[in-house]
Amino acid sequence: MVNSLLTDTRPAGISIHAIPAFSDNYIWLLRDEGTGCAVVDPGEAGPVIEHLERAGLQLQYILLTHHHFDHIGGAARLLQAFPDAVAFGPVDERIDFPHTPCSEGDVVELPALSLTFQVLDVPAHTRSHIAFHGHGMLFSGDTLFSVGCGRLFEGTPREMQAAMDKLAQLPPETEVYCGHEYTLSNCEFARLVEPDNQPLANKLQAAKKLRQAGEITLPGTIGEELRVNPFMRTRQPPVVRAAQNIDPSATPGASVLGVIRAWKDAS
Ligand code: ZN
Ligand code: FE
Repeated sequence: MVNSLLTDTRPAGISIHAIPAFSDNYIWLLRDEGTGCAVVDPGEAGPVIEHLERAGLQLQYILLTHHHFDHIGGAARLLQAFPDAVAFGPVDERIDFPHTPCSEGDVVELPALSLTFQVLDVPAHTRSHIAFHGHGMLFSGDTLFSVGCGRLFEGTPREMQAAMDKLAQLPPETEVYCGHEYTLSNCEFARLVEPDNQPLANKLQAAKKLRQAGEITLPGTIGEELRVNPFMRTRQPPVVRAAQNIDPSATPGASVLGVIRAWKDAS
């Protein structure tokens, strides 16, 4: 599934920054050493325009993972403010401004930044949710969070399990840039599922420290998620046992994922 055009490392000169939006969203900004840049999931235009003006940047590209307002709400205004910018997003009629529709197998090229991303279909949070992978980075929107996964608004546990399995195949050092700062509360829930998971206990402490210092907890990595994220560990005996304590008929995989997702929704 890894496209030969893709490289594992970020091109020299490309840096990534988080622009906070709303109460806990992150808009990811990829920029070069000149004035070129791209943003991922601009739920709000204001903070992006402010950042670009301060840094003297011209917006060239917009990447969108799913149609929810807190991820696309600023895109139309950004496209007005930067008429040369182009947007890429899911195949979904609920996104009603010009964008190139992308799905599994597509390769999104951002030539001005020398960046190329592979598009992955990861439906479950929404039916058309996509993720972008390339250069050692994954933009996972509201599908894979640090130590959690998105709610199943338009999909099934089976679909979210398939998404987790797909993302688990990425190189373990892949950095995960998700849409929200949920790490601390996700760790607290994950501790209920796996009280004896030491890497998870360490992750909780690290996240606490960062949040107390006013810092962001992202990105994590795929390798770390495999050790601490209960939604990526639905075949691990401690997670299966925790699910079976709630529903004795739970079986490893999608069934366990469904039980712990419902548990988290209710907690
Ligand atoms: Zn969402
Ligand atoms: Fe969101």
